Amino acid sequence: MNNDGIENTDIPNLNSIKLPEKSSISQEKIGEVRNYVLQFVSSDQKNMNLDMRKCELTGETIFEGSLKSQNSTKSAEECIITGFPVLKSQSYSCNNCKKSCNKNDWNTYVGVFNSCP
Ligand SMILES: [Zn+2]
Repeated sequence: MNNDGIENTDIPNLNSIKLPEKSSISQEKIGEVRNYVLQFVSSDQKNMNLDMRKCELTGETIFEGSLKSQNSTKSAEECIITGFPVLKSQSYSCNNCKKSCNKNDWNTYVGVFNSCP
């Protein structure tokens, strides 16, 4: 596996993750997924770049899902719904559990499940 395109994110290095020796899904399903991925990457939708955002703490341009810039010790809070950073403009604290989240994601979640996670 290679890490092309995710080097400057907080996504872990793919070579340092321990993977299970056996797959938990069937060879048939693996083939289906492989075909789907191949079809996707060879289609016209070739924008395979990560969506970026400006870090609210350092001003650096980083992957939108990263909680912090690579060399920064300051980290954004993690949204309890998505795991993405809580953005200042969206920041919300759940009245029930007091945890931080992005308001839109919280609204979507609560709209479907009628309770917070
Ligand atoms: Zn809650």
